[in-house]
Amino acid sequence: MSGRRALAAGNWKMNGERASLGELKAIVAGAANAGCDVAICPPATLIAAAFVVTEGSPVRIGGQDCHAEKSGAHTGDISAEMIADAGATLVIVGHSERRTEHKETDADVRTKALAAWRAGLVAILCIGETQEERQGGMTDAVLDRQIAGSVPEGATATNLVVAYEPVWAIGTGRTATPEQAQDVVAHIKQHVRARFLDGSPRVLYGGSVTPANAASLFAERDIDGALVGGVSLRAEEFGVIVAAAETAAGARDTD
Ligand code: PEP
Repeated sequence: MSGRRALAAGNWKMNGERASLGELKAIVAGAANAGCDVAICPPATLIAAAFVVTEGSPVRIGGQDCHAEKSGAHTGDISAEMIADAGATLVIVGHSERRTEHKETDADVRTKALAAWRAGLVAILCIGETQEERQGGMTDAVLDRQIAGSVPEGATATNLVVAYEPVWAIGTGRTATPEQAQDVVAHIKQHVRARFLDGSPRVLYGGSVTPANAASLFAERDIDGALVGGVSLRAEEFGVIVAAAETAAGARDTD
């Protein structure tokens, strides 16, 4: 994955059984000559089988979370090394559902990102404001705090992807407008740029991305792709988002 190549990443969350690998096969077929990076993060139970389905294709497999430690007495947890061993090359850390349901703090997310790098995985690190924070004019301050607390030193354009996911847009059908998303993503890039010696990491938008709104989001200058939840479970619809990411990437190449 290179610096500004678009990325369409799917997060299947706690959805999918072995029968769902048929949908993954369709995603692989649709992405055979993708002009952008494509990744699917299935539940942990499917990572190894998903890797077999995608082997030799451009589709990468990711985990949805990892423990900070390599191994040990942590019943029910999975380490970044285990995720890598199963065939994944990426892992999501700091998703708002983990921050809310599992009370993960920025410090927890930071140790998970470090664990991802220790295992050779790219960390897709999620940040985003709640509805109340946006209404209170706190969006930039909240994101700055999350970046400062959860992005470790040593981040580069190749080991880190930031996903801007406004909490109010996740799974709600309320997408940020392209202008809202662009404003925040530009702010994130500006804030993190100084920390990274080899340039800014890619910043994705996530939150109710659909085939209908993907192209307008990707047309924005700083949005490097999307982290897609619900729609990534359906190959045909996810394929439209991949195609939109390719088109945006192609347009940038000719800028
Ligand atoms: C997500 O959970 O990362 C997400 C963006 O979900 P959805 O696309 O369903 O809003």
